[in-house]
Amino acid sequence: MNLILYGAGKHAVQAMNEVEIYRKKGYEPVCFCDKDTQKQGKDYLGLPVFSIEQALSKYDDYFIFVTLWPGNVKFEVFHELTEFFGITKERILNFEESLKYLSCEYLQYNMVVQPTKIEWCCLSPYVQATRPKVELFTDDVPQSISSFQKLKEQLIRDIQDSKQTPCTGCIKLTEGYWSVDNKIQHIGFGFEYPCQLSCCYCHNRNSVRKIAAEAIKNQQQFSWTKFFETLENNELISSATMVGLASGEITCTPNKDAILASVTKYSLGILTNAVLYDEQIALLAARIGSHMNVSVDSGIRETYKLVKGLDVFDRVFENIGKYIAKGVRVIVKYIFLPQNSDDENVIGFINNCIKAGVKEIQISRDYSNPDALPLHIIKQIGSMVAIAKSNQIEVVMLETLHATDIDRLKEDCSMLKEDLVTNSTIPPPS
Ligand code: SF4
Ligand code: SF4
Repeated sequence: MNLILYGAGKHAVQAMNEVEIYRKKGYEPVCFCDKDTQKQGKDYLGLPVFSIEQALSKYDDYFIFVTLWPGNVKFEVFHELTEFFGITKERILNFEESLKYLSCEYLQYNMVVQPTKIEWCCLSPYVQATRPKVELFTDDVPQSISSFQKLKEQLIRDIQDSKQTPCTGCIKLTEGYWSVDNKIQHIGFGFEYPCQLSCCYCHNRNSVRKIAAEAIKNQQQFSWTKFFETLENNELISSATMVGLASGEITCTPNKDAILASVTKYSLGILTNAVLYDEQIALLAARIGSHMNVSVDSGIRETYKLVKGLDVFDRVFENIGKYIAKGVRVIVKYIFLPQNSDDENVIGFINNCIKAGVKEIQISRDYSNPDALPLHIIKQIGSMVAIAKSNQIEVVMLETLHATDIDRLKEDCSMLKEDLVTNSTIPPPS
């Protein structure tokens, strides 16, 4: 059976895990279709890209899989395919019913697990809201998950009734289509693992080493197996759910093996500082749909030491190169700070990325600081984007930057919207 993949974008890479399940059931991916005329006529992930009209006229007997992130755009596509093109829901393998109301993608699809609480987002002060949360009982994970679900339903109702909630005033609230199936698409773990670094923007920087013993105790009390079992038994996650390991350093956390064993069946987003190369992590991150994110935030050795507290700049880029050579999709991140926003760092960073074989970088601000970035940093971001793109390195702007500074990048650096791929699917690390 021919399978048309709708959406030749970044999320298609993550969706390939699910596509593979359908392929094993006999649905053979034959092409992508995409509205972007720049993509049509080219190949993506080894398949030709057509317009939807071309794809439908080429294959009589077809099924469709929509690879987009489960946000409003995806549901608009479902509506368009069924209502405009007259395609039956049965032909869209991952069709989901949706309803239109005021909500946000984090509230609908996200879960952030911290040592003592579970939240929906971790974007303060950027979102300008209090942020909802429930307590995490490490000895009673099912109850914590149940409270999470109940509060979510209550919050969504209260938002529709214009009641005061922790989300009130949040810039992420949008009137849009939201899936009715209630599945969590992204789970981010923000346990305070021990870490070798002390990044100047890390809210754990003064405590990461000191609290290590307590953090380890917390982690050890938390049953990862029970956590995923509860989510699965309550049908709150699917094979498309992505698990993010963030906030701390997984390569040196004592119960690393137990953590990794519990997440092997999911796509992973692994945030590591790459001070250590870890073969087990390389193998997990190299699977289709997974990726690794390494924040380097400097282009020269001295700045790395200044920003991160350890003299390991060269070793980190060497390890990034090793992960890439293993087939890992490594996204290297640059958080613009007063200490790293000069030419030497910007150029040094891109040169090191080129040497290590990096294909994607992510630009962010220090999101704990909500102030607009000064003009000289805006201009350096513009330079980094231009240099990266001229070296075929893709640039993703994290949404924390997008909200306040993208317009100024367009104005002050004459950048076009299409130069700035923004992304909100990979949450920022602590
Ligand atoms: S505070 Fe904002 S981003 Fe967080 S869950 Fe509420 S609406 Fe969403
Ligand atoms: S930001 Fe990450 S790598 Fe840096 S000190 Fe904090 S936990 Fe460690």
